Amino acid sequence: MKIVSVVRGTFLLLGAVMCLAFGGCGSGEGAADSKSGAQTDAATDFVQRDWCVEHGVPESKCGRCNAKLAAEFQKKGDWCAEHNRPESQCFICNPDAEAKFAAVYEVKFGEMPPKSTE
Ligand SMILES: [Zn+2]
Ligand SMILES: [Zn+2]
Repeated sequence: MKIVSVVRGTFLLLGAVMCLAFGGCGSGEGAADSKSGAQTDAATDFVQRDWCVEHGVPESKCGRCNAKLAAEFQKKGDWCAEHNRPESQCFICNPDAEAKFAAVYEVKFGEMPPKSTE
């Protein structure tokens, strides 16, 4: 009886060591990595490309995502009061503007941006 329990204890210890050696029995870093990897594919790409998918303009210039920028656009007089966004980014009043932003994106990244979702 005593020998059996010692052997069992050794196996448990071995199992624990194996778990540590192979990254926490599959519930550790490996799993977390693949999760964040999937998110990178879908969303983070556009963050890296400085692109506001919702509004079809560079994120760093998006007058609808950034209230501070919006105030600056208003100060410059570049503002469409009717649609509550910068006039230069109002694709309702200036349908050409969307194509211009898209063209800049295409030159930079070799592909068309996704159609803005708004
Ligand atoms: Zn935006
Ligand atoms: Zn407008």
